Amino acid sequence: MNMGRIRILSDNVANKIAAGEVVERPASVVKELLENSLDAGSTEVRIDAENAGRRLLRIADNGSGMLRDDAMLAFERHATSKLSDVKDLLAIATLGFRGEALPSIASVSRLLLETRSADEQTGAAVELAGGKLLRCDELARPVGTTIAVRDLFFNVPARKKFLRSDQTELAHVGSLVTHYSLAHPDKRFELYHEGRELLHVTPVLTLKERAFQVFGSGTIDDLVDLEPHTRELRLPPPYVPHAQQPEQAALPESEITEFRLEGLISGPHVQKLNRNSIFLFVNGRLIRDKLLMHAISAAFHNLMPSGCYPFALLFLTCDSGEVDVNVHPAKTEVRFRHGSFVHDFMRDTIRETLMQHRPVSAIPLPQESPMQPREGSRSYPSQAAGTLPFSEFSRMLESQVIELPSELALAVSAEETMLPEIAVAQPHAAVESTEAEPLPRAEAREPFAKRIPDTHGGLLHVSPEWERVDSLAALPDLRPLGQLHESFIIAAGRDGLWIIDQHVAHERILFEKVLRQRAAGRMEVQQLLMPIVLQLSAGQQFEYSRIADELNATGFETEPFGQRTIAVKAAPAGLHSSDIEKVIVEILEIAEKELRSATLDEIRRDLAATIACRAAIKINTRLEPTKVEWLLHSLAGCEYPMTCPHGRPIVLRYSTKDILRSFHRI
Ligand code: ADP
Ligand code: MG
Repeated sequence: MNMGRIRILSDNVANKIAAGEVVERPASVVKELLENSLDAGSTEVRIDAENAGRRLLRIADNGSGMLRDDAMLAFERHATSKLSDVKDLLAIATLGFRGEALPSIASVSRLLLETRSADEQTGAAVELAGGKLLRCDELARPVGTTIAVRDLFFNVPARKKFLRSDQTELAHVGSLVTHYSLAHPDKRFELYHEGRELLHVTPVLTLKERAFQVFGSGTIDDLVDLEPHTRELRLPPPYVPHAQQPEQAALPESEITEFRLEGLISGPHVQKLNRNSIFLFVNGRLIRDKLLMHAISAAFHNLMPSGCYPFALLFLTCDSGEVDVNVHPAKTEVRFRHGSFVHDFMRDTIRETLMQHRPVSAIPLPQESPMQPREGSRSYPSQAAGTLPFSEFSRMLESQVIELPSELALAVSAEETMLPEIAVAQPHAAVESTEAEPLPRAEAREPFAKRIPDTHGGLLHVSPEWERVDSLAALPDLRPLGQLHESFIIAAGRDGLWIIDQHVAHERILFEKVLRQRAAGRMEVQQLLMPIVLQLSAGQQFEYSRIADELNATGFETEPFGQRTIAVKAAPAGLHSSDIEKVIVEILEIAEKELRSATLDEIRRDLAATIACRAAIKINTRLEPTKVEWLLHSLAGCEYPMTCPHGRPIVLRYSTKDILRSFHRI
């Protein structure tokens, strides 16, 4: 006879685990069942839903299955095969561990479990309704488990009322399955709603391939690889009172624990208005965590406007003792033992990756053939029957583009309407609707092919360089061609045509210069002939007292001058005297708005950004060729030449590849 693998948790353990609401909506059922399937070692999982999961959620896996005895036992509260002692709680490697998912789900639905373990000839079918056992039979079936959950909340009408629209509920299910499929590229996931395929991904080798399957090439082109990075944390040795130490005992060794981060992130030109495109996994488990979210925002500070978020797919791996996943009943929040270490590791790694890859904004191209008339803006399929309302990731499926400055848009499109346009897509972050968009299908993502050779004047002779995408590596070799509208520098690069916004380019140059000088403690300063006297409001006075030291260290010489008044005697070089007051007022305003929570480093950067913005060359300014050369040269020397300190792009590139494509030469 086989001994069952499931044990009942002792009360002690049960009490240690804060009881919580596990089942909130169809997606929470999917989450629990999916985690169980993955824990059971499944390589293929298929989910079927009806009526957005209210009428039916069925999940079939090819995992280990359950022994017949266990199949019954699994519905006892706190029945789990995954942990038996309190100390295990601290080192949880599997996804589920509370042993309360199955009983909770069974108590609010009609549930049918069919399963067989490889260790037994026959399997079991267990049926429950509202938590009551209806039957338990032997069953012939292949190894694995199928759980069908019908009529969710049929016996808890109050809970039913809290469910949102079908579209919303289904979107939650969809995004959840998507998340898990991203965490497990080596497994097959299928999701069907009333027979319609919503997601079907086959096993692949890399995360990038999986991301491609899920999001399509449009998104993937915008991402840079965050290759595995590690950082070690040396833990202090455990304290042993002297008296207890044996005579010859060696000192306890300090332990080292390692954190590892890898994934994919977008450059700062992909700007989302919410965090929905940030996918965080800690030890393979999907989480939402304020600390890590902050680390990502901090990495993009001064690269992206505040309130914007990147696309990120990040996997953090660490010792299971370093993270407590038991904070939240649905297990989406975690607590790190060394939170600030993890935070800084993540922030630095992302920033370094961005510095290295220097992704550049491409001039957005239409997805369809360039000869087709373009509509005013991208159109979205309407909520036709059969269209999937994946609100969560519909936004991600749009091409990730940034808005061209309106002046430029005018120049490249409206003036010469006979030419195929360079499409100007809407900034996609701005699309906040929950409008439906079907998942991209494999066919839709075919790479361009068709060569149209010789008849059009021969193949273009360009170095293979043009194939390279998304890098500012070509910046140092740019050949300026001229100025457009006395605002934008047009330049030829080895990989295409470049357009540089002269104001933001200069802003970036000055920003980095101010920060450099500030770090070296050697600001270039101009003494004012006449001190500028500023009247402050009470709020400004308060902020001033907070940041006065920083102001003075950044090239200003300010001092209190009577009641709510300050005198400015010197300012950073390069600032026009009429701008000095504006800079100070602006930085006090920013301080009031957002700096209260900011670190000193952030205040410093914001101050540098404000100075840079004021001192930079304006648009509508004619530039001498030497000045243009200087600007490009200095920009190439910048650490981070992609976006201005407020997050706007500096450079747009119309890549040779896209030029060739638009002329139908490839
Ligand atoms: P937990 O996952 O926290 O252990 P659950 O209530 O989710 O608790 O599941 C109870 C037990 O049922 C699990 O520990 C596992 O042994 C078994 N089980 C549940 N789903 C599956 C599955 N798909 N395949 C194999 N075993 C399963
Ligand atoms: Mg579970």
